[in-house]
Order: sequence, then structure tokens, then C-alpha cells
Amino acid sequence: MLSHAEIGIDLGTANVLVYTKQKGIVYNEPSVVAMNMNTKEVIAVGLEAKEMVGKTPKDIIPIRPLKDGVIADYDITAQMLKVVLKKVSKIVGLSMRKPTVVVCTPSGSTTVERRAIHDAISSYGAKVVHLIEEPVAAAIGSDLPVDEPMANVIVDIGGGTSEIGIISFGGVVSCRSVRNGGDKMNNEIIQYIRKKHNVFIGERTAENVLMEIGYAHPNHTEQTMEVRGRDLVTGLPKTVVITSLEVYGALKESLEQILEAIRATLEDCPPELSGDIVDHGIVLTGGGALLNGMQEWLSDEIFVPVHIASNPLESVAIGTGKALKMISKLQKAAK
Ligand code: ADP
Ligand code: MG
Repeated sequence: MLSHAEIGIDLGTANVLVYTKQKGIVYNEPSVVAMNMNTKEVIAVGLEAKEMVGKTPKDIIPIRPLKDGVIADYDITAQMLKVVLKKVSKIVGLSMRKPTVVVCTPSGSTTVERRAIHDAISSYGAKVVHLIEEPVAAAIGSDLPVDEPMANVIVDIGGGTSEIGIISFGGVVSCRSVRNGGDKMNNEIIQYIRKKHNVFIGERTAENVLMEIGYAHPNHTEQTMEVRGRDLVTGLPKTVVITSLEVYGALKESLEQILEAIRATLEDCPPELSGDIVDHGIVLTGGGALLNGMQEWLSDEIFVPVHIASNPLESVAIGTGKALKMISKLQKAAK
């Protein structure tokens, strides 16, 4: 007999991941949709669409429907989800009929936004759709004992948002969501190079700079990188060399803002749970956890142990998948 599929979806601002019980992560692509604005037709979704960013003719536009952590465009989000589910059903096969789906939503999302995600997935034929908050999914995916009465602290630094949550006994005790993450850092890099070097670089170039020579603290062996963009004076292509210390300077403010949110969340923590945090520390997930020096910098700033999840880009997706088993328990705890 075919058991019906159980799938978990991490609907991230930068990446969408899909996890199935049988096959683990079966889909992992950027949350980008390329649309023909004249016909409103979806041209591409995922990696293919992301590769078009900054390179398409005027009427084909790459859109990131979840860019700031809120669902900027319900319609495009729904269309994107449909394409993703279709791709996944090809991989998983027949058992995709009437799946049970767990979707992770940013904790700042509103009831209306959650309803929209729920409806988009239901309309694809899902039997049951559960929504789960991002910090809870990230904690489960990082193998933290979320259903025990102890503080599990998650700091998830994504593309559009960073979410900090303290979870105990299956529920969120305190959380914060800030609209700050990889996207803002990329933007700071673009602005810096524009002001300092008079060169305008694209988003994807900025992201490469962030990943290669971005640092969370200034104490590191300095590195340099060549970047290409458009000279703002001559209008011609130009290559400039930038250093990791310059990049650090550009990122500093964004990092401070995330740090402030972490501090504020820890301050909200009930005192009985504070002891757990001193002992067990916090766990970093999301792409931002991979920024060079992040772990050392944060532990110096907040004086508690900082761990990086074993696969920070996948923790939330794995958590949504594993949450299926726990969902009834979590729902009871939330009541
Ligand atoms: P979301 O959950 O919002 O979709 P992710 O957790 O998938 O986001 O993280 C994506 C973000 O992480 C992107 O902004 C990307 O630039 C950033 N990122 C990925 N890898 C690294 C890295 N090695 N160093 C710094 N930032 C990174
Ligand atoms: Mg995420």
C-alpha cells in the first residue's frame, strides 16, 4: 500500500526547501520567480530565475515574493509554491497525492498571510496543512530538546529577516523578528562600493563578496577581492579591489542591529530559564550563521556559548519535516 506523503516546506525569504520523510531534502532553490510582466506568465522559478537577476530584458522581471519576510505578493507566492510542489511530486512520485504538509512561516507573519499560504497549499490538493513558526522549526531541525521545559535559544539569520526565539516545552516563550539579514548586508556592500569607489555593483556580485570576504569581526587576516561593476563617472565597466576590512566596516551596522535583537530577546527570558542559556547557549541557523567569524563574535558579545547548527541552511526544512511527528503535541502545548 502507498503511504501518503508527508512533506515539510521552508518558505524562506531567500530559499525554498522541501523535505520529505522518505527522501530528506528533495528541493532547495532560491525563492525567485521570473515573470513576463506583459502576459503575467511565470517564466522560471528557483535557480533558473535567480540567474536572470539583473540580466533580463525589460518585460521579464525576477521577483522575490517573500523578500522582506512578509508575503509581498500572495499571488506570486502561490504560483511559486505550485511550481515547487509540481517539481517535488516528480521527484517523489505518486505518493505526493494528498500529502500532509507542514510549512514554516516567518514569526512576524500576520494571520492573513498565514491563511494565504495555507490556502495556496490546500488548493494544490494537500490533505492537511500545518503552519509552524520559524524558530520552532529551526530548533527541531537542530535537534534541540524543544518539548522539554528548558530554554532552547535559536538565532536564525536569513536573507530578508533574522528571527530569534526562545522555545521551551514545545512553545515560543519569547521571540523577535527583525528585517535584517543577508539582503541588507548585500545592500550595505553595494552602497559602500558606490560611495567609496564610485562603482555600482549588482546584487549577485555583492552576495559573492559577502560570502567570500565578509567578516563579523575585524580581527582576521585581511583578504582582498576583485569586483566588477559600472564606473559611475565614465559609465564604463570597471574592476576595483576591496578588502575584507572594508567589507566588515560596511556590515558592522547590520550586525549590531541583529545583536540588539538577540540581547532584547534574552532580556525577555523568564529568570528560571536564564540559567539554561548560560549552560547550553544559543544555536545559530540560516545562511547568516555561515558568515566568517559569526560564532566567535557573538559569543564575545553575549557571553554565552554559541553553536552553529550542523547544517544551518537546512535546519528549518529538516525541522518542518520532523515536526510532523510532534505537531499534535505542540498544538496541545500551545492551547
Ligand atoms: P531564508 O531563510 O530567509 O530563505 P537562508 O537561511 O536560506 O534565508 O539564508 C540565505 C542568506 O544567507 C542569503 O542572504 C545569503 O546571502 C546568506 N548566506 C549564505 N551563505 C552565506 C555565507 N557563507 N556567508 C554569509 N552569508 C551567507
Ligand atoms: Mg529561513
